[in-house]
Amino acid sequence: MVDLIDTIVYAGRLKDKSALMSSSSGGAFTALSDFFLKNGNAVVAAVYNYENHTAEFQMIRDEKQREGAKGSKYMQSKPGDIYWEAYSWLMENQEKELLFVGMGCQSDGFRKFSEIKGIRDQVYIVDIICHGSPSPKLWREYAELIQKKDGKITYLTFKDKRNGWKSPTAYVKVNGAEKPIKDYVKVFYNRCALRPSCYECPYATTERKTDMTIGDFWHIEETIPDFYDPNGNSLFLIHTNRGEELFEKIQGDLDYRLSNTTQCWQANLEAPTKKSEQREEFWSDYQRKGIDFVMKKYGTVPMKTKIKNKLLRIIGGGVHRE
Ligand SMILES: Cc1cc2nc3c(=O)[nH]c(=O)nc-3n(C[C@H](O)[C@H](O)[C@H](O)COP(=O)(O)OP(=O)(O)OC[C@H]3O[C@@H](n4cnc5c(N)ncnc54)[C@H](O)[C@@H]3O)c2cc1C
Repeated sequence: MVDLIDTIVYAGRLKDKSALMSSSSGGAFTALSDFFLKNGNAVVAAVYNYENHTAEFQMIRDEKQREGAKGSKYMQSKPGDIYWEAYSWLMENQEKELLFVGMGCQSDGFRKFSEIKGIRDQVYIVDIICHGSPSPKLWREYAELIQKKDGKITYLTFKDKRNGWKSPTAYVKVNGAEKPIKDYVKVFYNRCALRPSCYECPYATTERKTDMTIGDFWHIEETIPDFYDPNGNSLFLIHTNRGEELFEKIQGDLDYRLSNTTQCWQANLEAPTKKSEQREEFWSDYQRKGIDFVMKKYGTVPMKTKIKNKLLRIIGGGVHRE
């Protein structure tokens, strides 16, 4: 039986420092998936496919496969037939349980599916806080462009923590060397490339019907300074009795602190990302002139802004962003 409860909020992170460093936030996903995999159960999550440069949902049965799901991938992932695959697996393994982890829209879709199919009591459903997802074609073409110029991409990260959780480094590995992908990340954040539905996302709230929501605990250094870790901090929003039960099961792997919805506030928990005024122009440029053109036009900081910022830094002023 799944009952909605008043939202319970935790800040937390993995005790295991190496697993924390290889996670995007505080490693909530690893703590959750570990619990299911160690008990012979299954996890469904989005894994990056280096052959077609797409993030695809997969049934995960071991830790090695789970490593492929770690890390934020800034593109819309493809559920494919995963709802049905999960359903068939549960029908064949009636005594087992399954953890589903996806973005708000994907996880709520799975929640509705699981209720209709009568498997809600066999599944735990977690969703992820989301700024919005760009079209998967944009990333695919970007990755293909890199491969055409430089060679096969063998590794991708949007959130390497070498400079800390608050200053993630994004790069791909080609021929063993790191190649920055700052231009794509700039386009992701500048609100031009998200799918139309992301600007109207109904899941940009702390009130959801999944069991648990995970994300970054932004501003924790100000709201809970004595619990801040520069290596990463996860936010847990618990929405159901099942989510409470799940958090109890993973508590042993975490350092955690009870919090509230004021301390963990961030823009995408209040409203969907606003559409950029440049969005129409961006897509029109992309249709007419292609991926290389839009990355140069929208993914780089103009020379005059760079000079202005350098001067502002020298005279001790703030930085101007464009
Ligand atoms: C497009 C996008 C936008 C985000 N926006 C925000 C935001 O505005 N605020 C915020 O607090 N957090 C945001 N996040 C979430 C954050 O970046 C971390 O992914 C999340 O906190 C989980 O981190 P972790 O350390 O627990 O797990 P990690 O070990 O890093 O695991 C990442 C988890 O995210 C899943 N995942 C990664 N990319 C995708 C994808 N494209 N589609 C579906 N699932 C995916 C993986 O399958 C895995 O379950 C966003 C993530 C993505 C992918």
